Amino acid sequence: MELIFLGTSSAIPTSRRNHSAIALKAFGEIMLFDCGEGTQLQLSKSKISPMKITRIFITHFHGDHILGLPGLIQSMAFMGRKEPLHVFGPKGLVSLINNVRNLGYYSLGFQIYMHEIIEGTILEEESYRVSCYPMKHTILNFAYKIEEKRRPKFIKEKALALGIKPGPNFGMLQKGIPVYVGNKTIMPEQVLGGERKGIKIVYSGDTCPSKDMVKFAEDADILIHESTFEAAYEDKSYETGHSTSKQAADIAKKAKVKKLFLTHISTRYKKSDLIEAEAREIFNNSVVAEDFMHVEVKRSNTE
Ligand SMILES: [Zn+2]
Ligand SMILES: [Zn+2]
Repeated sequence: MELIFLGTSSAIPTSRRNHSAIALKAFGEIMLFDCGEGTQLQLSKSKISPMKITRIFITHFHGDHILGLPGLIQSMAFMGRKEPLHVFGPKGLVSLINNVRNLGYYSLGFQIYMHEIIEGTILEEESYRVSCYPMKHTILNFAYKIEEKRRPKFIKEKALALGIKPGPNFGMLQKGIPVYVGNKTIMPEQVLGGERKGIKIVYSGDTCPSKDMVKFAEDADILIHESTFEAAYEDKSYETGHSTSKQAADIAKKAKVKKLFLTHISTRYKKSDLIEAEAREIFNNSVVAEDFMHVEVKRSNTE
């Protein structure tokens, strides 16, 4: 599983930080969270093909989170995309996407499924689920949570004791398929034990600090929380519906997440050190996300 930060700026992009967008490579898919202007160029620089994006999740309809959609969808059409695209977002998404499709003249050779979301589980797949919850911004903004489903743990010692050699048979049993060793059939239950915790990633979108986020992000492996301002700008931050470094870190601490990435950084900050240092005073495992930062999310690191 891999997270790629494509854009980490707030309302205005800079040469160093583009508008909001995060790609998640997981479960054989590429999912995109927000799609600010210029996202397709960021994708190109990250060597991620728009053709491989299966789903786009939009937190809210401020321009810095959606203005990349028209160009990205047009490029998908030009590249001859046939695979359907699923787009999730707050109420109003259908009209937004219909407007996007009517910008410029081109023919669309693929289906766009539009999902207007309300709080709760919005996507249930075999190996993962996605849920959302409204946060506190100047307009309706949904935070998203991607959860890998719990799976039984493979107990290597038991497999070895049964005479199974490491190799393809291990993988079969992990998938729940019986294997044949000598003249014996080994059933998956014989080598699978208690449940293995799945990876949990939460992305805030734009929000003031919210108690709902503490609950929503509880025990997440990774919380990506906006931190538009430094701690001294708490009033300004509140007025504009945003969070400060310390507020985001406080949420991470209270939610007992493993790692915090701060994003949506105001253009006034040319460097990340102040925001990062302030956050670390409260929650040590805090990092300011930078454009093109790749984060490998490994189960072994998160258990
Ligand atoms: Zn924003
Ligand atoms: Zn916003």
